[in-house]
Amino acid sequence: MPFSTLSDMKSRLDTGEISAREITQNVLERIDTHNGTLNAFVHIDPAQVLAQADASDAFRTKHDARPLEGLPIAVKDIFCTQDGPTTCCSNILKGFHAPYDAHVITQLKKAGAVLLGKTNMDEFAMGSSTETSAYGPCRNPWNTDCIPGGSSGGSASAVAAGLVPAALGTDTGGSIRQPAAVCGITGLKPTYGRVSRRGIIAFASSLDQAGPMTRTVRDTAMITAVISGHDSGDATSVADAPVVDWLGACNPADMKGMKIGKPREYFVDGMDADVREAVETALKQCENMGAEIVDISLPHTEYAVATYYVIAPSEASANLARYDGVRFGHRCKNPEDLLDMYTRSRDEGFGAEVKRRILTGAFALSSGYYDAYYKKAQQVRTLIRQDFLDAFKQVDVIATPTSPVPAFRIGEKTDDPLTMYLSDIFTIALNLAGLPGLSQPCGFAGGLPVGLQWIAPAWREDILLSAASAYEAATDWHARTPADFDGQGDAA
Ligand code: GLN
Repeated sequence: MPFSTLSDMKSRLDTGEISAREITQNVLERIDTHNGTLNAFVHIDPAQVLAQADASDAFRTKHDARPLEGLPIAVKDIFCTQDGPTTCCSNILKGFHAPYDAHVITQLKKAGAVLLGKTNMDEFAMGSSTETSAYGPCRNPWNTDCIPGGSSGGSASAVAAGLVPAALGTDTGGSIRQPAAVCGITGLKPTYGRVSRRGIIAFASSLDQAGPMTRTVRDTAMITAVISGHDSGDATSVADAPVVDWLGACNPADMKGMKIGKPREYFVDGMDADVREAVETALKQCENMGAEIVDISLPHTEYAVATYYVIAPSEASANLARYDGVRFGHRCKNPEDLLDMYTRSRDEGFGAEVKRRILTGAFALSSGYYDAYYKKAQQVRTLIRQDFLDAFKQVDVIATPTSPVPAFRIGEKTDDPLTMYLSDIFTIALNLAGLPGLSQPCGFAGGLPVGLQWIAPAWREDILLSAASAYEAATDWHARTPADFDGQGDAA
C-alpha cells in the first residue's frame, strides 16, 4: 500500500476492493508516522480530508467515477486553496487564507481527487533545496541528512517516501524536475501556457508552470490530463493548444526510429561522475531499444543560469511588491508611519533569499541598468530558445541529466548562493524557452537517486511521455523505494 501508484489505487477503487475513506486513512496514518522526520507537509486537516473521501465514496454510489475519483493528491503550499492556509512557506503570508481556489485545484476537485493538504517548499519557490522554508527544511527519504531538492521538495519527499502517490509542484527554473530527480520520482513541467497559473502565487510569471510529481509516467499523464486546458482567467493560458492523448502516449513501445539529441553542453567536466555514468547508461539502453542517439549542440547553454537570474528576480521583484503589510499577511507592530510599516513589514516577513532576489531584480530593472541587464537577458533568452528550435530540426527529443549532482547535505550550500544556483544548470534553459520537460529515475549515485531529463518541442508532451514510458517499461528504477520508509532500498 505505501508505495502504490495512482493507477493501482484507481483499479482497486473501481473494483470496489477498497474505498476512498480506507485509502485516505492509510495515507493520513503514513503522514502521521513519518512527517515528523521528513517535514514534507506544512498544513493538513485530517477531518476535512476524510470528509472529501466520504464525499467521493458517496458520489461513486450514484454516478460514474470521475478521472481521479477518490485518489489522494498533495499540493505545494504555493497553490491558493479556499480550505486551510496558503503561505508559500513565507512568514509574510502566515495566517493567509485565500478567498478562492487556484484553477488547477478546481480542476482536481472536479475530477474527484481528495486533496491532502499543503507541502513544504522554498519560500516563494526560490531555491533548490527546500531549506529556505519558514517551516524549516524538508528531508530526503533516501537519506534524511540530505535535501529533497527544491523548491517543490515537500511534494517530492512525500511521494518518494510513499506517504502519498502523487503531488502537484511548480517549476520556474527546475522546481518540479530537480526535486523529482534527487528523490527518485517522475515529474513533468508542461509547455508554458498549457496549465493555468490563476491562483498560483506568482514568482516569475513568464516562467512559472504547474505540473505533477508521481511514481510513474502514466500517473503523471493522468494528472496532467486533468489540470491542463484553457482558462480565460489567465491571459497566458493558450486557448488553442494542440491536444495530447495523455494516456495513449504512455503505452510502452520500443524506441524504433526515435532520434534522441544528446547535447554536448550537458555532459561536462565538473558534474558528478556517477550521475554522468547513469545517464550515459540510460542512453545506451535507449539505443538498444531502437533509438538513434545524435550528438547535438545547444551553444548558448552557458548563459542560461545568468539569464535566468536576471529575468526571474526582475519578475519576482514586481510580483512581490504586493506584500506591503496592507493587503496580505504580516504587518509589523506599531508602525510610526506608512513608510515604516512597508519597510518593517517586508523586512520582518521575507527571508534572506527572497530579499536577495527582490534586490537583484529591482536593480536589474532600474533606470540606467535596464538595457544592460534586463533587456540583454531577454535577448539572450531568444538565442537560447533558437538553439532548441534548431536542434529540433534534427531530433525528436533531447535527453540530459536533470541535476548535475545527487542530493547534497542539508546546510552544505546555504552560505553559497551561487553554488546553489548551479543546481539548476540543466533545467533552467527549457523554462526560458517555454518548452516541456520530464524527469524520471535512471539510477543511483552513492545510494542517492539520479534523474534523466527529457525535453520536447512546445506542445509535444506526448513525445516526452512515450520516450519516458518506453524507458520505464525496460527498467525498474522507478520501483525502488527507500528502506528507512518501509521500502526495498536502492538495490534491485
Ligand atoms: N532553483 C531555482 C530558483 O531558485 C528554480 C526555482 C523554481 O523553479 N521555482 O529560482
